[in-house]
Amino acid sequence: MTLKAQPKASHFIDGEYVEDEAGSVIESIYPATGEVIARLHAATPAIVEKAIAAAKRAQPKWAAMSPTARGRILKRAADLIRERNRELSELETLDTGKPIQETIVADPTSGADSFEFFGGIAAAGLNGSYIPLGGDFAYTKRVPLGVCVGIGAWNYPQQIACWKGAPALAAGNAMVFKPSENTPLGALAIAEILHEAGLPKGLYNVIQGDRETGPLLVNHPDVAKVSLTGSVPTGRKVAAAAAGSLKHVTMELGGKSPLVVFDDADIDSAVGGAMLGNFYSTGQVCSNGTRVFVQRKIKAEFLKRLKARTEAIAIGDPMDESTQLGPMVSWAQRDKVLSYIEKGKAEGATLITGGGIPNNVSGEGYYVQPTVFANVTDEMTIAREEIFGPVMCVLDFDDEAEVIARGNATEFGLSAGVFTADLTRAHRVVDQLEAGTLWINTYNLCPVEIPFGGSKQSGFGRENSLAALEHYSELKTVYVGMGPVQAPY
Ligand code: NAD
Repeated sequence: MTLKAQPKASHFIDGEYVEDEAGSVIESIYPATGEVIARLHAATPAIVEKAIAAAKRAQPKWAAMSPTARGRILKRAADLIRERNRELSELETLDTGKPIQETIVADPTSGADSFEFFGGIAAAGLNGSYIPLGGDFAYTKRVPLGVCVGIGAWNYPQQIACWKGAPALAAGNAMVFKPSENTPLGALAIAEILHEAGLPKGLYNVIQGDRETGPLLVNHPDVAKVSLTGSVPTGRKVAAAAAGSLKHVTMELGGKSPLVVFDDADIDSAVGGAMLGNFYSTGQVCSNGTRVFVQRKIKAEFLKRLKARTEAIAIGDPMDESTQLGPMVSWAQRDKVLSYIEKGKAEGATLITGGGIPNNVSGEGYYVQPTVFANVTDEMTIAREEIFGPVMCVLDFDDEAEVIARGNATEFGLSAGVFTADLTRAHRVVDQLEAGTLWINTYNLCPVEIPFGGSKQSGFGRENSLAALEHYSELKTVYVGMGPVQAPY
């Protein structure tokens, strides 16, 4: 029997689907029902070798093409992704359980934006410079790194496959991408589209696998760079392994970001921002503002409106366009989130709404209610650890200096947000909050034009914008002597 979302084979290497049944079985499960929708195999060492060898073979010719010609192919891929948005969004919903209402506006389309942006700037974003030296001179070139490895998380499988692939390819690299074992399907569709757009074979390869497969890529001597999207513990392991052969690394890791709401803020906007920053993608977003600091004067009104709007969220079948909140990606993630909710209750936080499993959905799905805790204090586990689910912690504060200090009192530094009508204060506060990406009077918007990434334990390197091109290339400096060499001997 063919399963609902069974791809032609597990891996996409050198322009074609490849299978190796010797690899351990990866079951792709639709999180809304628990149904197995595809069965794939993790890459064996032979598959890893095949993918890296294909990338290595293809890369020099690609790097030698003009950036405009490379960009043209990437822009064509962007158009194809947009044309197939519905089909790709349905696949993304099957892969992740995220509601189609979201995937249709946020997943393939943000991948298309990435190919369009990097396709467009490839020609202008890779220029070097001329350095006059009084007779002699030097110039710099921006050159690709070679074979780059991308390793993805499960919350935005198609977006991550594109956010890593687009700048890598624009800069003249080849990529081997390994999606999360929880969401193996989307990246294969992206690889197919890239090749249909005219990408020469071998430049974008997808191999399946888990935490056993990742190290085979990270330790491989022919790999020049690793870009990981994942948790902090995985980031530490991958960075340590990459350091063994001094590979370039980009680390897009987890967070526990502060979202600060001052008492002069537009309360409805702040509530909307906090909900987007906690419940979108069922809370499975790395940059979420999961510590919502609300100034004491507006706490009661903020919680009243937040509770009413949270209880009105439509939970249910992700394929139904009116559904606003789907299941967690996996049973394990559902259990993890429920155990954090229990810790919140046990440690004395006040449950405002949610706190369990919704009763309007099938027991087979991995659903959790959107949950709000108030009176959360800085020491509670739910205020310190990344939950990665629809659990919002509301904390009280009195003044600006206090909230900045408490906002920064975390090992993470991915994002932060401020809601206030006082723009001077807004800029003063974001200036002091320790994070890589910050928002004023909005939350979680990450268009391709702006750099995205973390500080502190949330990682380093940047995705999107011109900054990403720099992380997929390096400078070559050429000194040109214009006169005879003045040697002292
Ligand atoms: P994870 O760390 O468990 O896995 C991430 C990826 O790394 C998977 O593909 C996994 O197979 C692979 N992996 C695991 N161990 C490895 C190893 N030793 N060597 C090489 N690869 C290995 O993360 P997850 O559970 O898939 O995703 C959730 C985490 O990702 C959260 O912490 C979230 O905050 C983070 N995240 C960060 C961003 C960002 O851009 N900063 C975006 C999305 C998710």
